[in-house]
Amino acid sequence: MRRFLGACLGIILIPYFLPAKTLKTIHKSQFDAKSAPNVLLITFDTTRADHLSCYGYVRRTSPTIDRLAAHGVLFENAYTVEPLTGPSHITMMTSLYPQQHGATINGMHMSTHPRPILLAQIFHRLGYKTAAFISAWTLRKSMTGLGRGFHIYNQNFTYHYKMVNSARRGNQVGAASRRWLRKHGHSRFFLWVHYFDPHEPYVLHPQFAHLPHMKNAKIFPISASVDAYRAAKIRAYDSEIAIDDNDLAKTFKLLDDLGVRDQTLIVFVADHGENLGEHGIWGHGYHINQQEMHVPLIFSYPKEIPQGERIKANVSTVDILPTILSYVGLHFRVPGQSGYSLKPMITNGGKDAPARPTYFLVYSEPTLLPPQWMSIFWTWAETKRIPSLTGFVEGNLKVVSSGSQDALRLYRLDDVFSQAKPVSSKGMSIATLTGYREGLDSWFKATNRGMEPQGHLSKEDFEMLKSLGYANP
Ligand SMILES: [Zn+2]
Repeated sequence: MRRFLGACLGIILIPYFLPAKTLKTIHKSQFDAKSAPNVLLITFDTTRADHLSCYGYVRRTSPTIDRLAAHGVLFENAYTVEPLTGPSHITMMTSLYPQQHGATINGMHMSTHPRPILLAQIFHRLGYKTAAFISAWTLRKSMTGLGRGFHIYNQNFTYHYKMVNSARRGNQVGAASRRWLRKHGHSRFFLWVHYFDPHEPYVLHPQFAHLPHMKNAKIFPISASVDAYRAAKIRAYDSEIAIDDNDLAKTFKLLDDLGVRDQTLIVFVADHGENLGEHGIWGHGYHINQQEMHVPLIFSYPKEIPQGERIKANVSTVDILPTILSYVGLHFRVPGQSGYSLKPMITNGGKDAPARPTYFLVYSEPTLLPPQWMSIFWTWAETKRIPSLTGFVEGNLKVVSSGSQDALRLYRLDDVFSQAKPVSSKGMSIATLTGYREGLDSWFKATNRGMEPQGHLSKEDFEMLKSLGYANP
């Protein structure tokens, strides 16, 4: 409890706004350009940790990612901050929670007053070649504001789904990113590649329909004899992960061919997970259960990161930016930074990992949208400043609060891949429960600093949101 409250207090004491023009305080002389690595950030959309073979899944969905984990550090208990593509990716690029960067739901632009500093801007300032290759409309730069700092922000989508949503396949985004890499791979680079295929609708890829099984697996998909419909959808979902993993192998091989693998820090992460029919729930965006919040997170940089390390401490996607900057060797905190560098924890092999709460929240709640949502949806979105659910994990305790009803639910995550029924709070002191509540409230208040979101939503964008299910009444 003391630790919990102390961590909350720590957040409060961190000055939110450092002096202006902080980006201009970064100079190339602050870091060693010769030893600084390239950075390759790979984000898989909608990819649950427990459906990757390196996390114990029985189907061999991810041989490429498994090899990456074998050559780096795998975080067994990583959490996203919010299970939505736009807000989650913006958090990775800013080390700010959604309530800080202003984009609390898909389709919202991050704050423009003030503007958060983006990871790509830092690399641009350091003289890196910077490029992003994204695969879905929710990350378009006009919609999110993520284009700043990238020399190239490639968003050439090639197909539509659910009528109006645009995206592209993993092999297409992979090929485009590799064309860029062949040209710039010998310069110092920051490359972000976003794969989208595991997002619904799930397509069964015949070549990955019958994946080999892993020995010593801990996690098994539901049997078709129990629920054939669900089993078929999960098989398709798994094949979507496998096909993107298969493409990723080509990018890693290219790094080898270019002779730059040892000088490249590779970060692999998912923006959020997915409900696959547990308790009748499919998709993501409205809950903070383990299926949506628990994501894979791997760092590989053979020069500095031990091989095959696995760390159990709870960590967050908000930690990605400061961790990357640590390995680049740049001492710089973005204004409002909420994450911690994981480098000390990695160097220590996870021993003596600091105990602190790992926070998350969700703003979306379909039932909150009234029938007349077509006219007021965006007014609602831009003024909705109170999350539907907030929560944290500390150790194996998970606490979820639905603020509006003042309800607190506690879970013991004996198995991080699932969330059993809430445990009883009997036996816990009032002071303990009040501490959890106050800790969550303090965290939210301390980080909810009123950055103004900018809704730049075209009619086309709105139709996309609607057909994706994010704007359903
Ligand atoms: Zn996503």
